[in-house]
Amino acid sequence: MSALARYRRQIVLREVGVNGQQLLRDSSVLIVGVGGLGSAAAPYLAGAGLGRLVLTDIDRVDLSNLQRQLLYRQADVGRDKLAAASDSLRALNPDCEIELLPGPLDDAGLLAAARGADLVLDCSDNFPTRFAVNRACVAARKPLVSGAAIRFEGQLGVFDLRRGGPCYACLYPDLDSAEAAETCEEAGILGPVVGTIGSLQALSAIKLLLGLASEAGTLRLWNALDGQWRSLKLRRDPQCPVCGLAQHP
Ligand SMILES: [Zn+2]
Repeated sequence: MSALARYRRQIVLREVGVNGQQLLRDSSVLIVGVGGLGSAAAPYLAGAGLGRLVLTDIDRVDLSNLQRQLLYRQADVGRDKLAAASDSLRALNPDCEIELLPGPLDDAGLLAAARGADLVLDCSDNFPTRFAVNRACVAARKPLVSGAAIRFEGQLGVFDLRRGGPCYACLYPDLDSAEAAETCEEAGILGPVVGTIGSLQALSAIKLLLGLASEAGTLRLWNALDGQWRSLKLRRDPQCPVCGLAQHP
């Protein structure tokens, strides 16, 4: 059986097995953004045999993307990112169904997409999108795996309201400072830094789908220059405008 041959190296893991492989096969993941983070996360999920990946993005492939967005090739420059990503993922694993949602999605579009998925990877590169994705995940009660990277710094957070929260917005009570954040275009980024965080997002997604130990409620911060990781235990903010007690008693 070709599926057994394809996934043998992970089926052999006690934590996956044939049943876990079927769970992945039956799963659907929404990936918001196929830039540096999504470009690392999406092929690992397609390769692992996810049944369905739903991708959304607004960009075209730019020459400056190829330094870190390894889903794309030189010949993709100028192409719509979703079309190029879809071609690349289908070439990797034709058994993985790829659905494309051209962005930008409004709140209703994001909510519908989150409802249709088992979990959501936020691979976007700006705070307004991250907050919108979080609102959709809270409303749809779907786990959110959030990643970010800039300069030599990476950040990975798993948010799961089904386990009592917190949500992404609990982290940033001061929206003004978050919105003033820098971009990679200005501040710079190294390919392996963003690729590592995207890979860890894929790992967190697989673990959540398989029901393995979850890092929900933990924020992990990585300084890639000195190689140090820090873990912060996050608490749900009862006053949070998204998941607070007023919204979700
Ligand atoms: Zn919250």
